[in-house]
Amino acid sequence: MIDNKHLDFLKSIVGSDNVKSDKAHMIAYSYDATRTRFEPDAVVFPKDKHDVSKILKYCNDNLIIIVPRGAGSGFTGGALPASGGILISMERYMNKLIEIDMDNMLAVVQPGLINMELQKAAEQVGLFYPPDPASEEYSTLGGNVSENAGGMRAAKYGITKDYVMAMEAVLPSGEIIKAGKKTIKDVAGFNIAGILTGSEGTLAIITEITLKLIPKPKHKKTYMGIFPDVTSAMNAVFKSLSAGANPVAMEFLDALCIQALKEKLNVDLPSNAGAVLIGDVDGNLPEEIAFQLETLEKSFKENGSSEFRIAANDEEAKTLWYARKNASPAVTIFGTKKLNEDISVPRSMLPEALKNIYAIGENYNFKVPCFGHSGDGNIHVNVMVPDKNDEKQMADGHKAIEEIFQMVVDMGGTLSGEHGIGTAKAPFMNIAFTEAEMNLFRAVKKAFDPNNILNPNKMGL
Ligand SMILES: Cc1cc2nc3c(=O)[nH]c(=O)nc-3n(C[C@H](O)[C@H](O)[C@H](O)COP(=O)(O)OP(=O)(O)OC[C@H]3O[C@@H](n4cnc5c(N)ncnc54)[C@H](O)[C@@H]3O)c2cc1C
Repeated sequence: MIDNKHLDFLKSIVGSDNVKSDKAHMIAYSYDATRTRFEPDAVVFPKDKHDVSKILKYCNDNLIIIVPRGAGSGFTGGALPASGGILISMERYMNKLIEIDMDNMLAVVQPGLINMELQKAAEQVGLFYPPDPASEEYSTLGGNVSENAGGMRAAKYGITKDYVMAMEAVLPSGEIIKAGKKTIKDVAGFNIAGILTGSEGTLAIITEITLKLIPKPKHKKTYMGIFPDVTSAMNAVFKSLSAGANPVAMEFLDALCIQALKEKLNVDLPSNAGAVLIGDVDGNLPEEIAFQLETLEKSFKENGSSEFRIAANDEEAKTLWYARKNASPAVTIFGTKKLNEDISVPRSMLPEALKNIYAIGENYNFKVPCFGHSGDGNIHVNVMVPDKNDEKQMADGHKAIEEIFQMVVDMGGTLSGEHGIGTAKAPFMNIAFTEAEMNLFRAVKKAFDPNNILNPNKMGL
């Protein structure tokens, strides 16, 4: 429990109404999307970077743990006070769009701004912020940058790190730093903005972010290809990309997802479908769209696709996307507990990775439906445990996950394509990194946060 004298000091910085320590607030802020619970000792809502600076300095001087929080939609426990301490929330005040700079094509935002708010504001002036995590309606840009979030448009447009130009952040000492510039070129000094991107709130608290925007493409079309199995679908991915197609998204569903979608949600897909690819193409000219779709159709058909659908309008596009967007809830027909991971492999390894994942699942008698971002090699693997109250089944589920991580790392892939490490994947960092590499991470952490007060014990640090 935090001492009242500390609470009084925090109140003197931000005002009494912006420090909460009552039970209801502690319960409300004890969750993220992992649904693991850790109640904080207090939640504090700073109004600006100066408040953040004073709070951090005080916590550092008094060795009080502090954990930054955006919307709390993280999948790996990054925003949870797993080692106790106070939460510092960006949602109440530090949530503004500061400016859209048309000439430099960039936006300056506060960390609590919701991703979709930036997308809408950019679109109003003909610009585009592409990173689109499925949580775009509620996750914050501070959380997106701290997790280096990705989305469906990553296949063509990349992920959050590709849009971070600069940021302002507060160190645990309370010092306010600037990292990066509004310039396209900047090779002076270390890339501190790059280090802070994906640092999961362990190094500094981000108080302002400068993000690159691009022109909004004028046309978009949605496509879907039906395949006999995942290997032919993945071959179609490789062949169409090397033939010059550049789809915005190239998502896949495997046979188990298709079965679940048909059984649970009555989705219109052929009963012999073994895999589906779905995505969008975009461009400024109708000819560009036509070229993209022709290239996709040709490569898909050459690789066993029995059917290539193109949505004629927005309504049909929604219907095609419905299958992909509902795969996650649909696969719950296979078990009462879903252990889902977001591994990523070099794209060419997708067929082998999937084959190995299914084999690991079979070995333990689990169904493992997989779906995800075939355009960029990021797979959502869902180990479905039939009975979550059966201890052996749960233990086997965790063993299967560990085997999957080892296999993925052995083939040059990573533990997480987008959700980060937090506490959930911290025990597996030794699979992915050598002791020398982990020591380097720890040295970086120590340089920023010598007293280990900022989001400690995350990312295996
Ligand atoms: C249904 C659903 C779908 C999702 N889909 C995707 C997806 O497609 N792609 C994807 O990448 N993720 C996805 N996620 C995961 C999650 O939404 C992202 O990780 C998102 O970036 C988290 O943002 P947040 O604002 O909720 O951050 P939080 O969960 O609050 O925090 C995440 C991390 O950022 C740190 N942090 C937050 N703000 C700051 C700050 N100002 N300074 C320093 N550190 C800070 C926290 O300490 C924590 O470590 C999904 C989650 C859900 C629930």
